[in-house]
Amino acid sequence: MSEMDTFRAEVRAWLEDNCPEEMRQPPTSNADHVWGGRQWSFASDAARLWFERMVDKGWTAPAWPVEYGGAGLSPAEHDVLKSEMSRMGARSPISNFGFWMLGPALLKFGSDEQKREHLPAIARGEIRWCQGYSEPNAGSDLASLNTSAVIDDDHFVVNGRKIWTSYADRADKMFCLVRTDPEAKKQAGISFILLDMDSAGVSTRPIQLISGESPFCETFFDDVRVPRANLVGEINQGWTIAKYLLTHERDNIGGEPPGLLKGRDLAHMALDAVGADDTGRLDDPMLRADIARLEIDAMAFRALVEQTRAKAEAGEGVGAKSAMLKYYGTELNKRRYNLMMDAMGGLGLEWDSTRSNGGRYAREWLRSKGNSIEGGTSEIMLGIISSAVLQLPKTA
Ligand SMILES: Cc1cc2nc3c(=O)[nH]c(=O)nc-3n(C[C@H](O)[C@H](O)[C@H](O)COP(=O)(O)OP(=O)(O)OC[C@H]3O[C@@H](n4cnc5c(N)ncnc54)[C@H](O)[C@@H]3O)c2cc1C
Repeated sequence: MSEMDTFRAEVRAWLEDNCPEEMRQPPTSNADHVWGGRQWSFASDAARLWFERMVDKGWTAPAWPVEYGGAGLSPAEHDVLKSEMSRMGARSPISNFGFWMLGPALLKFGSDEQKREHLPAIARGEIRWCQGYSEPNAGSDLASLNTSAVIDDDHFVVNGRKIWTSYADRADKMFCLVRTDPEAKKQAGISFILLDMDSAGVSTRPIQLISGESPFCETFFDDVRVPRANLVGEINQGWTIAKYLLTHERDNIGGEPPGLLKGRDLAHMALDAVGADDTGRLDDPMLRADIARLEIDAMAFRALVEQTRAKAEAGEGVGAKSAMLKYYGTELNKRRYNLMMDAMGGLGLEWDSTRSNGGRYAREWLRSKGNSIEGGTSEIMLGIISSAVLQLPKTA
């Protein structure tokens, strides 16, 4: 047995012993997700137990150093843990922007004090973070952002407005891009700061989505005082941190499908909805072919992800290639949800019924449309692939 085989066997045994049966089923609603933060909520005792066991093991942030609440797993060990969790359908014990986005950025750019203050709290799910990047006139062209931070003694005074801030009304803290030098070239005048959502002058206004949910907010800053110690990295050097964080966000968005289809086999879902022919195959040849094509593409995509990870492990940065993964992963996810809707027929269109679990199919299908917008749109990803990966000349 190789070292990695032994590790896999240990991981499998631990998960078998510690992951409650209920946590091996896909979530049935948004309320099933554990987000952590100052206002804890667990949908069940099993969710709490699962979370606490994973925290103790350091597996909420498996690759982070042990001193910051992680388990110090190597990339290969982390892959083993992910694949074993996926094999048994184990739910992620917690969802939080701190893990996917801020954590990796702090590990690279944070001061020792910032790492000690924030990383263990993220690993234990104590603080819920939101991302203050986009503004009404700065989405794809993020570097045009205008929210200002002016130095006043040992504080920044922040004024401006963010938009599309996911869960801003439920978050405890925000990692935020602010303009600290209005005279400099736009990328060169941006800083990356951390602020408390309870600070005087911060307010949020939810925005309702086409799915009927309001996971988003507009966020307003009115003379908000933020200690200068909350600056990450150097003043006016925030763009580098912002871009690094985006590569992690994009990897995460382009990964395994979220929500209803997470860990679910679309073919079996379709079989339940459509039925089987005499030979036991899905009784709809067109849908069968479409699902087969999707699964082949998904396998090829997984191979690309693994290859990219292996290169990252060998020290080759992922950089602009995260645009490829984000682009293809999210387009694949949208295709998957479209096929789910094809398979569900009328049930997929129901909005409020019990048998559709409160319109879950339609709502999640609509939510999947946002995948190719959040974290940078597909058009922007294609632009990055064209210039930074394929090195094609820019058109006028
Ligand atoms: C589900 C979801 C969650 C989000 N969560 C957050 C969050 O938590 N925090 C946050 O800060 N932001 C968040 N966003 C905002 C997201 O980052 C922006 O929506 C995204 O960057 C696009 O910006 P925009 O909406 O201003 O669109 P625009 O930039 O105005 O783009 C409009 C259209 O023009 C196209 N376009 C723009 N420029 C170009 C170009 N150069 N070449 C080709 N096409 C172009 C775009 O592809 C798009 O189709 C979220 C968005 C979604 C959908």
